[in-house]
Amino acid sequence: MVTTDGMFQLFSQIRRADPGLGRGLPRRLAALALVFAAVLGVAPLSAETRSQSEYPVATDARIEQSGDSVRLTMMLSSKVEANAWVQASPDRVIVEMPSTNFQIQPSAKKAAGFVSGYRYGLFTADKARIIIDLSQPAVIAKTETRLVRGGFGELTIELRKATRAEFLAEADKAKPSPPAVVATPMPLPLPTKPAGEARRTIMIDPGHGGIDPGAMVASIAEKSVVLAFGKALKDQLEASGRYRIVMTRDDDRFLSLADRVQAGRNEQADLFISIHADSLVQSQDVRGATVYTRSERATDAEAAKLAAKENEADAAAGLETSEEVQDVAGILMDLARRETRTFSGVFARNLVDKLGASVKMHKIPLRSARFWVLSAPDVPSVLIELGYMSSPKDAELLNSPEWRGKAVSAVASAIDGYFARERASVGQAASQAVENRQ
Ligand SMILES: [Zn+2]
Repeated sequence: MVTTDGMFQLFSQIRRADPGLGRGLPRRLAALALVFAAVLGVAPLSAETRSQSEYPVATDARIEQSGDSVRLTMMLSSKVEANAWVQASPDRVIVEMPSTNFQIQPSAKKAAGFVSGYRYGLFTADKARIIIDLSQPAVIAKTETRLVRGGFGELTIELRKATRAEFLAEADKAKPSPPAVVATPMPLPLPTKPAGEARRTIMIDPGHGGIDPGAMVASIAEKSVVLAFGKALKDQLEASGRYRIVMTRDDDRFLSLADRVQAGRNEQADLFISIHADSLVQSQDVRGATVYTRSERATDAEAAKLAAKENEADAAAGLETSEEVQDVAGILMDLARRETRTFSGVFARNLVDKLGASVKMHKIPLRSARFWVLSAPDVPSVLIELGYMSSPKDAELLNSPEWRGKAVSAVASAIDGYFARERASVGQAASQAVENRQ
């Protein structure tokens, strides 16, 4: 029996395997999905995933050590099924359960014995994860969910200290079968850009989300800061009536990097804007906004370091496959990629100009590195690093509605400028360049 879950995973794999520009392909796949959905008698994912308020609520978590064991207990509003396994390098325990609304006090104790910390959040549309980091090898002694008085649920994960060999053997055994590795956080693309849509499509991509908080400073997570910014940008752009705005995520959920890239391509976005606010732990005085484009070689060491960090987002959620999907080379693809790079560069310079006029910029405001999320060959893509959460001054600004308003307006005006003038002239230059080469 093909489960809908399995089917979505299958489609996701097919989508990833799409080697060409193939703009018709996602549409055909989506149509196919609707047929499959009808055959199986299930609603296509357009039926939308449940809103987060309908999820079971996790209200309380306790972690305690006793002897060679560490036990994590979580109270939930109902009994849920959970599945746990260990994973090596980095060493951790992954607990998977149905979508859960985690309302655990940020002050709750997070470490005990060989557990150096744990985090939780949504992983896909219908799954949540708890990731427990291990400072020493351990194995799972017990995973238990039980019904307690009042209809509540209690989840217990008991870990036992182990030898390295024992741990590795368990990790090997537990290596998830391929479907569990290939996450499908994104709902299937509905037929993407509506037919006859004349407006430009802009894809806003708030970084991180769900189980992956991004940079954390005190109790502020990058994922929340960038989501608030993305939503404000969407509102402002939509108010102009000129654009069709799509977001890779508009709530607190995890999305793999591949799915973000694919979302931009499926929507046939004219522009893809990824939003981040990182932290450089060592340097509190590094601050200001930076605009990044993609390049094979980084402009400088800091840009390379940041790209490497952002490229680890999938690993943060316990995804094991983090191989960038390579597009098949070819003259057409090559041309498309070159053109896309030119447009990305033009927009990035526009952004630096407009942002620089209203907010503090980093001393090198325009840089590039090998950011996976910017890898679509046919969608001009940039990444905005709004500021550094590690800088107290930046952190304060990033949380202020006034600063956000200024920065959002600057980005919106860079977008207006890009579509109004630059694209036309660059288009001319690009077609001229092509003619000259012929
Ligand atoms: Zn980030």
